Amino acid sequence: MPNSTHADDERYMRRAIALAEAGAATPGASPIGCVIVRDGTIIAEAHNAVDLLHDPTAHAEIVAMRQAGEALQCAEFRGATLYSTLQPCGMCSMASIWAKIGRIVYGAERHQVHRMYFEDRHFDTMDFIRDAFREDLAVRGGVLAEECAALYHRPDDDVPEAEQGNI
Ligand SMILES: [Zn+2]
Repeated sequence: MPNSTHADDERYMRRAIALAEAGAATPGASPIGCVIVRDGTIIAEAHNAVDLLHDPTAHAEIVAMRQAGEALQCAEFRGATLYSTLQPCGMCSMASIWAKIGRIVYGAERHQVHRMYFEDRHFDTMDFIRDAFREDLAVRGGVLAEECAALYHRPDDDVPEAEQGNI
């Protein structure tokens, strides 16, 4: 398992928050930020770019994983930690498993944000990770959770349906 302190986690999460804020300020992007770190170095960083790229898979984590693959010339990122400002969705959780990411650290928890950010009514995507064959995959949630949650619509916000990407 990669060595990482809680101070490191907060430092990298602050970078992910900055990326999320950049996403919020970019038409066609969304305020979800991700960095991938290995051996103390950021090897990829991205924000959600779904509407910007006309790509439904362009979640911050997927964009970052593509960058990491380019950087490492490899599709397996063993020993890397993926930081995301929001609990990863099912697609990104599964992609992290396939990418052999060593550790996932996320900020806002699902219950802190509007349901529009998740695809399933009841499944907790973290259960996918807990159920994975990858015994070595570690997860830590809730890092700078309040600061991350402030990037998103809250559970009781009245969000117009047109803005809700999951329905
Ligand atoms: Zn996702």
